[in-house]
Amino acid sequence: MGKCTLCNLEYDDNIYVSTYTSECSECNKRLIKNRNKAMEENRKTASWRILISEEMENRNDSFENVIFSTLSNAELDVKFDKGYGSIEGKPFTLWTKTRVYFPTSYDGAEGCNSVPREPCDEITEHV
Ligand SMILES: [Zn+2]
Repeated sequence: MGKCTLCNLEYDDNIYVSTYTSECSECNKRLIKNRNKAMEENRKTASWRILISEEMENRNDSFENVIFSTLSNAELDVKFDKGYGSIEGKPFTLWTKTRVYFPTSYDGAEGCNSVPREPCDEITEHV
């Protein structure tokens, strides 16, 4: 909650209305800032738990098989923008009974890959 120092309008930064514009330059600046913040939050749809789970599904593995993870449970659920741009996800290594999982990135777009724990004929593409 606050009050605009220019036009005296009371506002709540937590309430964002995309169609609203103001005659007041200070209010408009605040509206644009809140819109950018809302858009940034909307892009934060990934978490390591989601991305690791997708890789696990491809490998017939699951979180039930996790032996150790450098990420805590809370860190696994932190939401971030996995899209192109800057790297946002916390680096990690996660071990299951059969595989080792790790983060990948391409121009900032983030994902998860894994390799087998034991020597075998599985090849690894460039990450
Ligand atoms: Zn104002």
